[in-house]
Amino acid sequence: MVVESDPWHYFTMTRSLAPLDLITRLIGFDTTSAKSNLALIEFVAEYLSQWTTEFRVTKSDDGRKSNLFATIGPSDIPGIVLSGHTDVVPANAPDWTSDPFTARVTDGKLYGRGAADMKSFIAVALAMAPRFAAAKLSQPIHFAFSYDEEVGCLGVRSLIADLKNLPVKPSLCIVGEPTEMTVIIGHKGKKSVTCTVHGKEGHSALNHKGVNAVEIAADLVHKIRSVQKRIRQEGPFEDGYDPPYSTLHTGVIHGGAALNIIPRECRFEFEIRNLPSHDPETIMAELRAHAQELAPEMLAVDPETGILFDERNNTVGLSVDEDSEPARLACQLTGHNHTSKVAFTTEAGLFAQADIPAVVCGPGSIAQAHRPDEFIALEQVEKCERFMTDLIKLIPQRTDKT
Ligand SMILES: [Zn+2]
Repeated sequence: MVVESDPWHYFTMTRSLAPLDLITRLIGFDTTSAKSNLALIEFVAEYLSQWTTEFRVTKSDDGRKSNLFATIGPSDIPGIVLSGHTDVVPANAPDWTSDPFTARVTDGKLYGRGAADMKSFIAVALAMAPRFAAAKLSQPIHFAFSYDEEVGCLGVRSLIADLKNLPVKPSLCIVGEPTEMTVIIGHKGKKSVTCTVHGKEGHSALNHKGVNAVEIAADLVHKIRSVQKRIRQEGPFEDGYDPPYSTLHTGVIHGGAALNIIPRECRFEFEIRNLPSHDPETIMAELRAHAQELAPEMLAVDPETGILFDERNNTVGLSVDEDSEPARLACQLTGHNHTSKVAFTTEAGLFAQADIPAVVCGPGSIAQAHRPDEFIALEQVEKCERFMTDLIKLIPQRTDKT
């Protein structure tokens, strides 16, 4: 019993790993979103099982991917969630100086896919596990590791839904996306939509007998552009974002077979990146209304024609108060006295939507994410370690009674 109260007991009696070893191990698992992350999750679960009291696993429908939620400390007290996604964007090996899934350290930087986005945050959290356990904190630390973040924050949704089964809801969440350890209290939401125009094929000389899907699509794309122009001029606006309004953008368009054939089908993809306070459904309603205006002309030629919107995913924006508990805690731990907002989306909005206030704060720079030769500066890893070491100091120890 005497030995158990000595925090160093855990270092000598258990198999703990240092942050850089853990980053290297995690990068070694090729968890590109299209692939399974189970090998990484098994490794993390086995490692954490030395200290955790609670384990929750939520799997994808096909069973190839899994979220992991683990708790160190009392499970009946609202705790602090350290959250990260385990998947990475694809790494095209020829674009890389060395193997993207073999970490290498050069000149104070650690290279590898996921080094910044965001295996280093997960690795530092894991490296701290024995210290979190040894500190006998009065408030639990939760680890929330998700799959398929890079393809629309898909995995974390079932993880968050499963948190309803906990004895108590966590009190706050820190999502460790790369922000160079600055504190982010807001980000835009994102809705991705595929629009398919079904027209009627025919000889181009007889265009009155067909429905030109490319031209109908062009009309809709023009509508998207005009909505964007209006929003740019009239808002709504919110300070702190670049640009300070919601954006619409068409990124892909395919349609038509030959110049002398009336195109039967045209498909295009667009996205809405909305301010947290700007409901993207109002924009979608406007686009759908425009599509309805186009329909009678199409249906008069052929009742089989039409316009379909397929909303592929919807990541909600994040907006928490500067004075909220997670923002104050993260500012205290980073030593920053200001917060900011970013353009990229994260899982933090979904945690906040589930009444678990969240901020984004993690090591590394978003400028290095999603690029060949992705890296993290080692001083960022050290800053993240300090952040978590100070977190231990801020949480009171359990008394014997608790
Ligand atoms: Zn990320």
